Order: sequence, then C-alpha cells, then structure tokens
Amino acid sequence: MKISLLSIGNELLSGKTLNTNSRWISKKLSSIGCVIQNHITVQDNKDSIVSGLSFCLNKDPDFLILTGGLGPTDDDITREVLFDYFQTESIFDDEYWLLLKEKYRRAGLKISKSNKNQALIPKVGEILPNSIGSARGLKFIKNNTTVFALPGVPAEMKNMVSRSIVPQISKDIEKPIFSRNIRTIGITESHIFDTVKNFTNTNSNLIGYYPSIYGVDIYISNDDRKEINILADYIYKNLGDYIYSEDETDMEEIIINKAIEQKKTLSIAESCTGGLIGDRITNVSQCSKAFKGGVVVYSNFSKINILGVDSNRIAKFGAVSKEIAIQMAENVKIKFDTSYGLSVTGIAGPTGGTKEKPVGLVYIGLASTKNTIVEKYNFGNYRESNKIKTSQAALNMIRKDLFNE
Ligand code: AMP
Ligand code: MG
Repeated sequence: MKISLLSIGNELLSGKTLNTNSRWISKKLSSIGCVIQNHITVQDNKDSIVSGLSFCLNKDPDFLILTGGLGPTDDDITREVLFDYFQTESIFDDEYWLLLKEKYRRAGLKISKSNKNQALIPKVGEILPNSIGSARGLKFIKNNTTVFALPGVPAEMKNMVSRSIVPQISKDIEKPIFSRNIRTIGITESHIFDTVKNFTNTNSNLIGYYPSIYGVDIYISNDDRKEINILADYIYKNLGDYIYSEDETDMEEIIINKAIEQKKTLSIAESCTGGLIGDRITNVSQCSKAFKGGVVVYSNFSKINILGVDSNRIAKFGAVSKEIAIQMAENVKIKFDTSYGLSVTGIAGPTGGTKEKPVGLVYIGLASTKNTIVEKYNFGNYRESNKIKTSQAALNMIRKDLFNE
C-alpha cells in the first residue's frame, strides 16, 4: 500500500513548529505494512498547495494524506483550495453550524463568524467526523488515489487517523505486517546485535535497532506473527535482565504499575535532575497509589535543612558522592515513610566539573526495606541528556529491585 504525505503550514517551514504529524502518521502506517513514498511540506498558499498535490498525485499513491490549514482563520485555505482543485461546489451545512454554535456555547466560548467556513462541505466528496475539535476532515477520490485532508492539531489528527483512516487502509492491505518493539536499557546496540545475529539466519524477521537517550529499542516486524514471537522469546531468554518494556510503554509506567501491584511506596530526593523523576512518575495515571512525594534539594543548604543530610559529611565527601547519595535515599525514605527512597546527586554540566569529579558524574541511591545500594555513572557533557539519562537509570534501579523480588 503506497502512501504520500503532504503537510501544509508556514509554521512548519519556518521552524516554529516541528512537523510531528508526518512522523506519527508514517510510524502508524508503516507498522501495518504501508510504504510511505514521500513527505512534502508546503506553504499556506494556493500555488504551493496545488503544486504539492500534483507532485504527490503524479506518483500515483493509494492514499494521499494532507494535514493542516483547516482552521477558521485567514491563513487556513486548504479547504477552499481542495474544493477548487477537485472542482466541486461547496454547500453550507446548517446542521453542523448549529452543532458547532452549541459546542462553543457549552464551553462558555463566543463563536466567531470565521468559524463558518468549517461548516462548508463539498458537493462531491465526503466529510470525516472530528469528535474532539471543530474542523472536520475531507475525503476525495482522484483516479486510483484516495485523498484525506485532516486538521493540523496533532491530537485531532491522531484521533481521526486511528478512527477513520487506519480502518479504511487496513481492509485494503493484502499482507498485513505485525511488529513487536522490545525496549532495553544498560546494554549497547552492538552487544544486542551480537546476541541477536546468532539467531537471525534461520529467521525471516526484519529487525531494527533504535538507540536513544532512554536505551535501545529492538523493533521486529514480519507478516508472520509466529516468527516474531520465536525471535522475541530468544531475546528474552538471552537479554531478559536488560528488557524493561515493550511497544511504546515507558519505564515510569512499568515501575508504578509494579509498585502498585506489590503495594510498595516510593519517595524521591532529587538534586541534579531538578524534579524530572517526579515529573515522569506523575505522568502515570494512578501514580498516587505508590508515589508519596519528593523533594528537590539542589543546594547544600536544602540537603541539610530539608532532608537532614549531615553537613560534616558533605564537607568531607562533597555533595556529589556515594556517601551523600546513600544518606539522601535513606533520609527521604524515613521522612516520607515509604518502602523505597530514591536519590540522585550529580554534576549536570556543562560547567562545575573537576578532575576527580568530571561533568556527568552521577550517584544514584536506593534505600529499601532490605538495604541501601548506590550506583555510579559517568554520563557525559550535555546537561539535558545527563538529566534524562539519570532519571532513566534511577527508575531502572527501582525496576530491578521490584522485578527481582
Ligand atoms: P492548522 O490545522 O493548520 O490550523 O494547525 C493547527 C495547529 O496544529 C497549529 O498550532 C499548527 O502549528 C499545528 N500543526 C499543524 N500542522 C502540524 C504538523 N504537521 N505537526 C505538528 N503540528 C502541526
Ligand atoms: Mg495552519
């Protein structure tokens, strides 16, 4: 199944907005076996949109998906350009206009006259419902290509792709593709490759290795689900300790759900991550059942006065040390009365490093009911990535403890 994507919006070309829609649609449709022929981005003007449409349609895709420019303002001209391009008259949908007015009234908003163009529908062509926004999508057929136009707002676009477009495309796919994405941490891409390659000679899977700041994902796809599962079993057998989840599930979700299941609670003392671990944990629904709270103790003053860390110990070992990570973890566990106390202290950089304690040095402490353990890392020179890597390694320490019970 051949797909073409056309993104419309000046903000995408100027760099103001990152074109996340193309990435999301491509990922979604590739995963079910479609081939994405091209991504094109054009300006919000008639000539650009028309030339983009012609370019894509010339390649004869099965489906052409447009996003952007269906809003109510002056710069949103996709609808009128499409009506013109497909030579259809427009009709004003009175019923939808009433619905839209009612929707705005209920939300306590005043509807503007400019919203009226969102009630225009083509005489030849179809409308795609949008359950979470005001701009409905459009569908046209040109020769062998089905053309969909969707709003640019990512949440609305995703909703419409999942509900209306994927079902239409998947019923036309002769050989659907299945996939599993196995997520690892603490092992390099080359080590994974060395393990997996022993097996792949006898296996027809397509395998991708995707390293990121969070670890390495192993993406396996095939039209034969059994083949995928055989390889996945082998990977679990050989790399099981490094695997933290599958598909798009993040580490925080895994540990919160496991902690809830085991009736364990958690508190955090964060220094170099500045609250990032708490932020990630509180993105998980129901986290309050396991997460009791945390403190950001960024200075020596707060480590001593809020958390009760021993000032003599800081003077002796320095705030970024094994000894202080241990005391932070133990003290936060006591103060919040939790099963786990997690602590991080490190030098995020890019300044502040010394020969003995370079930028990227991080200690992570984990106090549990059994003992307190500490791990030392040397991440690197980049502040933001150091924070993310620290948060991932810290959450992974809890994961290992929870899953080795
Ligand atoms: P529009 O449908 O063009 O009115 O876009 C509505 C909102 O969605 C604007 O805030 C755009 O910046 C955003 N948007 C449009 N296209 C994209 C895209 N390809 N990726 C991410 N955001 C987008
Ligand atoms: Mg726009």
